[in-house]
Amino acid sequence: MHTWTIELTPASHRQFNDVLSLNQNKTTGHFRRWFGGLAGEIYLGIKSGLDLAIARPQPLDKTQAQHILIQAAMVQQQCMHHYRVYQDLKAHDLKDLALHDLLLFIRMANYHPSYQDLGEFQQHSHVIESNEHLKTLINELNSKQLIQCIKVNNKRFYDKNPYPHCHLLDTETGLISDYDCHLNVSHSHRFKRIPHKKMAC
Ligand SMILES: [Zn+2]
Repeated sequence: MHTWTIELTPASHRQFNDVLSLNQNKTTGHFRRWFGGLAGEIYLGIKSGLDLAIARPQPLDKTQAQHILIQAAMVQQQCMHHYRVYQDLKAHDLKDLALHDLLLFIRMANYHPSYQDLGEFQQHSHVIESNEHLKTLINELNSKQLIQCIKVNNKRFYDKNPYPHCHLLDTETGLISDYDCHLNVSHSHRFKRIPHKKMAC
């Protein structure tokens, strides 16, 4: 009996994060969802066994759904180690699962997520309960210098690299990236240098 489905919504130029959803057909809403780099890793881990079609719900039986949950937990554990989330939070004596999930998302992101991006992550999370909870977690990671916050105009971005460095704002996309001093952007109106408060660039 195929009472479950799995579906991947791949990242696009508008939405930078993969979303993998495991749904139980009888219930409304999603049983579990994974968002961002972790979703992509889990998808790679399960796709060969299931021959998944992209962006189309794939019917599953209960055993397959259980297999995906086990596989997802294993991939998440591996990523927590690989991105040194377990190690760094343990060093600060932090055991909160939601904090682990958030730091993993930020470390796996291949861009500087904005507050809005972290809000989207929260909406897909089953352990970060609210916006207030998210704010508390961000403050905790920031205060322990595991991430840094970069304020550009009225927008906040979060950086997995907590050390001082300069950024570049792309005024067309509104995104920031690390500033490479070898890149001459002084002639361009599109890019704006964002110096770190503790260093010139
Ligand atoms: Zn940066």
